[in-house]
Amino acid sequence: MTSSANPAPSILDRLSAPHRGPVPFSVEFFPPKDAEAEARLWRAVRTFERLGPAFVSMTYGAGGSTRDRTVRITGELAAQTTLLPVAHLTAVNHSIAELRALVGAYADQGITNILALRGDPPGDPLGDWIRHPDGVEYAEDLVRLIDDLGDFHVGVASFPEGHHRAPDLDHDTRALVKKLRAGAEYSITQMFFDVDDFLRLRDRVSQADPEQGAKPLIPGIMPITSLATVRRMTELSGSVIPPDVYARFADAAGDGAEENREAVRAVGIDFATEMARRLIAEGVPCLHFCSLNFAKATSEVLERLGVDTSSVLPATSAAR
Ligand SMILES: Cc1cc2nc3c(=O)[nH]c(=O)nc-3n(C[C@H](O)[C@H](O)[C@H](O)COP(=O)(O)OP(=O)(O)OC[C@H]3O[C@@H](n4cnc5c(N)ncnc54)[C@H](O)[C@@H]3O)c2cc1C
Repeated sequence: MTSSANPAPSILDRLSAPHRGPVPFSVEFFPPKDAEAEARLWRAVRTFERLGPAFVSMTYGAGGSTRDRTVRITGELAAQTTLLPVAHLTAVNHSIAELRALVGAYADQGITNILALRGDPPGDPLGDWIRHPDGVEYAEDLVRLIDDLGDFHVGVASFPEGHHRAPDLDHDTRALVKKLRAGAEYSITQMFFDVDDFLRLRDRVSQADPEQGAKPLIPGIMPITSLATVRRMTELSGSVIPPDVYARFADAAGDGAEENREAVRAVGIDFATEMARRLIAEGVPCLHFCSLNFAKATSEVLERLGVDTSSVLPATSAAR
């Protein structure tokens, strides 16, 4: 049981608090591999700190040294910044006892917001899922496990195009509803390319269970700055990039051996801004930016959305 005199706010608290710009926003980081990458992460963290995100999240990789670094850095985000961190936690390769210990390690650092995920098999994310013999089968089980441990605020993942392992969209919608009924307070979507997919997911959840449909469904957006990144992200997640969207990026990349990064980046900022504007018009509670540990592209999108970024953009103009 967590027992802090000043418990951290929940994501729901943050989404209903005053915010800059037309809608709250949040930022996703991933654990850096080495000291240089860690320094870059901290530059991005300090930049975003000035823009006031509702929360930031740190993804989770199951490998031993990455895991320790992830827990440490997420703790540092809580202790050394004004940001509210959400720790992603996956069930991959973990027994229930290990999962409990990890949740305890986060709680010891004052982190009570956790995104409960099943995770993917290490090595081949699209390979067969094998449950740890003493672990959990679905994210739904992890939601319950975390909730049972104390005063945590748990979120889950959702998939506008459907999860790559789900036989169909209805199955996947039911899986999301189960996670929400198990106690998840909100969900964050995988990045997607078609706003209609997001809106259809929102409708399906509301139809399946209006009470769960009322919980925040937060769209994940990635300001794309390279075609190679788009390809890698879609390969890893099994998501599909619509041909017209791909053509937009491919045209910008050009036919040369090296893609035209500047042109691709410009399309990426335009595309993310267009998606964000439409999502805001559709009343989303927050925009969750997959930053890849860089601040500049997301800051540019935020600026176009009307967020005051003047304290940030000139200072980061050398960054990506
Ligand atoms: C916002 C976001 C953040 C992420 N962060 C990370 C991260 O930090 N680290 C990482 O390794 N991965 C991360 N992932 C990837 C995620 O772990 C994978 O996509 C994984 O394959 C699915 O995780 P899940 O939590 O949605 O699993 P689950 O909800 O357990 O779903 C897995 C599959 O089982 C089905 N299913 C779920 N519940 C049931 C049920 N009760 N009965 C029958 N079928 C069911 C679902 O339809 C789905 O096909 C993230 C994904 C998103 C969208």
